[in-house]
Amino acid sequence: MAKDRDNCLFCRIADHTVNSQLLYEDDLAAAFLDINPRAPQHVLIIPKKHIPSLAELKPEDAALMGHLVSIASRIAAEQGLAEKGYRLVCNCGENGGQEIPHLHFHLLGGRFLGPYTFPLESDNFNLADMEDE
Ligand code: AMP
Ligand code: ZN
Repeated sequence: MAKDRDNCLFCRIADHTVNSQLLYEDDLAAAFLDINPRAPQHVLIIPKKHIPSLAELKPEDAALMGHLVSIASRIAAEQGLAEKGYRLVCNCGENGGQEIPHLHFHLLGGRFLGPYTFPLESDNFNLADMEDE
């Protein structure tokens, strides 16, 4: 719906009404630098279609998702990340830590990224504290 697009930051980046540091775009997808990088290289890859999250993917989106992953792989290679490796993340919903409700992949690299999530019981991270907030 047009209204969804108007209210969505990443739709507005996709249609160039909000600026971004664009690395790549085609008719279906765009890739740009994350404004608050969590790694030396942090790129976001989005579909131009407004899909709120992985939870709302439709069977007909399968090829588009493959396209996004393929773009991520190409950008990683172009940025010299392929040899040492990198991480491709798609946060979904509240528990997944998704803040922007327009599906996106995070491509993170440029240093060792550590464990992909905290262990359930960890010295430096207490799930119970987070849930009390
Ligand atoms: P997530 O928490 O998975 O929804 O990730 C949203 C990401 O979007 C975060 O890493 C933010 O730093 C990033 N972000 C928010 N606003 C912008 C923006 N205007 N341009 C680029 N990245 C953004
Ligand atoms: Zn959107």
